[in-house]
Amino acid sequence: MKFVEEYRDPELGKKLLDMIHERSRKPARLMEFCGGHTVAIFKHGLRQLLPDNIEMLSGPGCPVCVTASDDLDRAIALGHLPDVIITSFGDMVRVPGSRSSLQEARSEGADVRIVYSAQDALAIARDNPEKSVIFIGIGFETTAPTIAASILQAEQEKISNYYVLSLHKVCPPIMKAILDLGEVNLGGIICPGHVSAIIGSHPYQFIADDYKIACAVSGFEPLDILLAVDRLIRQIESGQPTVEIAYRRGVKPEGNVPAIRLMETVFEIGEANWRGIGVVPSSGLQVKSQYEKYDAAKNFKIDPGPTHEPEGCICGSILRGVSTPKDCGLFGGTCTPEHPVGPCMVSSEGSCAAYYHYGDNHG
Ligand code: SF4
Repeated sequence: MKFVEEYRDPELGKKLLDMIHERSRKPARLMEFCGGHTVAIFKHGLRQLLPDNIEMLSGPGCPVCVTASDDLDRAIALGHLPDVIITSFGDMVRVPGSRSSLQEARSEGADVRIVYSAQDALAIARDNPEKSVIFIGIGFETTAPTIAASILQAEQEKISNYYVLSLHKVCPPIMKAILDLGEVNLGGIICPGHVSAIIGSHPYQFIADDYKIACAVSGFEPLDILLAVDRLIRQIESGQPTVEIAYRRGVKPEGNVPAIRLMETVFEIGEANWRGIGVVPSSGLQVKSQYEKYDAAKNFKIDPGPTHEPEGCICGSILRGVSTPKDCGLFGGTCTPEHPVGPCMVSSEGSCAAYYHYGDNHG
């Protein structure tokens, strides 16, 4: 398959690995901020192939995993309101909240439907004018433009029963928050491919300039990731951190300008609540007041009650990079992909699920 097979070429992979082993002298701790990268790194066994002095950590990059319990509790409480249809991406439905999940709410009578896009949710609203249809909007800059488009389309079609609960998050501010926490001493960041396809590479420049940390935008094939690691190691070894794009076929420095404009038309930057990290200023997207008739947060009053994390689950510290799934006492025993206790095991992009499927430390 063109544009896939050549990025899995074992010969090229070996050459890149040889170069990395040759160049790498200083200890380097690298973090990826993308669930797709986490899965690819585990699936292709890249951690084990890198030199011992390169440590790979997973950061808060899985959209389902970073959604805070109290936001999930709000979504579940909305589902219990009369004449409401909740629409959500599939993985979110299985994530345990403080007392139940959207899946359990459905078994208790709530109308919860899995959709593959905001357009699907809008179609449900169109077909059910007597109901309020709420789309649970999660994800990063990658998904936000299409959800913005669904709101604009609702406006155009005068659909008045469609709402979005915007739990969207933006990536550069959470990188800053992780660095400011000071818990992980990073030398380099593997910047997310899909997010960067929208926002470009410029928004990461502060990381190289202010924090002196190497940055490389990566694609999702094994050679993409090895190329990004090679770029990071070059920067680290030369002591000259900068922002490089190691994914030229997917990312331009300026990003996707029409998609950015679309996002900025409907959403504005606001705070967001991140699992394991808490409320981070300027790290979320909220529906602008001009479109507030589509904002579920403004149009439905709910009391989700007190929030707590699943007992024994350490997803929060895994998302900050200070723990790994094998540090969790529930991993592989009480918590498995079939019976997940926390979001990092529910989501196909979660660290615990990746570790369970592809790691060598099954409990
Ligand atoms: S193994 Fe399960 S309980 Fe433990 S951190 Fe991962 S998701 Fe949470």
